[in-house]
Amino acid sequence: MATPHVARALRFFETRADAITEEQIRICSIAASPFGEQERAEYFSRKFSELGLTEVEIDEEGNCLGLLRGSSRSPLMVVSAHLDTVFSADTDFNVVRRDGRLYAPGIADDGCGLAALIALVQAIQSERIPIEGSILFVGTVGEEGEGNLRGVRHLFTKGRWAKHIDSFLSFDGPGLDRITNRALGSHRYRVEVAGPGGHSWGDFGLPNPVHAIGRAISRLASYPAPKEPRTTFNVGRIEGGRSVNSIPSEASMEVDLRSAAEAELQRLDAFFRRAVRDAIDEENATRRAGDSLLKLKVDLIGERPTGETPADSPLVELAIEATKLIGVDPHLDQSSTDSNLPISLGLPAITLGAGGSSAFSHSLDEWYDPRGRDLGLKRGLLVILGTVGVIM
Ligand SMILES: [Zn+2]
Repeated sequence: MATPHVARALRFFETRADAITEEQIRICSIAASPFGEQERAEYFSRKFSELGLTEVEIDEEGNCLGLLRGSSRSPLMVVSAHLDTVFSADTDFNVVRRDGRLYAPGIADDGCGLAALIALVQAIQSERIPIEGSILFVGTVGEEGEGNLRGVRHLFTKGRWAKHIDSFLSFDGPGLDRITNRALGSHRYRVEVAGPGGHSWGDFGLPNPVHAIGRAISRLASYPAPKEPRTTFNVGRIEGGRSVNSIPSEASMEVDLRSAAEAELQRLDAFFRRAVRDAIDEENATRRAGDSLLKLKVDLIGERPTGETPADSPLVELAIEATKLIGVDPHLDQSSTDSNLPISLGLPAITLGAGGSSAFSHSLDEWYDPRGRDLGLKRGLLVILGTVGVIM
């Protein structure tokens, strides 16, 4: 912090606070739905080139990459934020400013992380900080929902940098105290039930796919999820049917199962699979002789690994110290983020808040308040420079 150019880079986040917020507004105004991140990736690719990053590219999966080369290629640290949001393509992504807050879907998750990437590159470049190792800045695709971490998965398995990355830092959402070093595992399913369908009065007695889904939900809802280790389940989407007086020919649901412990996740998973099978059997049992059976299809649409970067690893210790340096009590936590993937490969990885505050993420009322953002960026910069090294 005492090194003159580092001290200037830290001040950059205060003096350029308004410009950083303007950049966040520009980024978040570009629509980025799941599997629809391309326009935002192209914006990042132009921006990375303008800021002097090299080897700028959009890879085969859609991630946008740019290298800030130090005196050596290694250690190579990835610094990332995710381009995607949970919102569909027809969402209004325009940003509204009111009372110091920014309102827009995805403005904080992960608009503030994306703004942090740009601000960090600008600070390091404008103060010409001589770094030892190199930093690969990445806007990832597919962090949310059905994206199933496809961006980082590609980066670490098939991408051309895959075998060269030594550590990973993701900025996801706001805040100053959170250091996510444990990966929260999840299983996500899509369940489809199909049947003959018919008239609600005339064909009464046919097995009903919506009723079957209802029976399955009822069973799942009764699961005694432990508070410790925290274990959760959610039926997030249901679909099916044609009209009020038709026995539906299909119904489906999407389900999210999570646990802080792998064994509990397996237990919940087994309960859920059994609940679905039993619900179908129960519904089939009510049918009349000769009626056809319901057909069940269960697809695993998401599987995120659990694991952790140990609290005494250099990366986590650095994040703890950097958090204390900005005057905040660090708080280690567990979440489901892009870090899950490198953690599952045994690479040191953490996810940090990018400063500022927010509420209602994943809803249309999401807002972000940039006040205090500079502290989050300072913490981030210290962790990055501490990892790649500064030439004194
Ligand atoms: Zn996020």
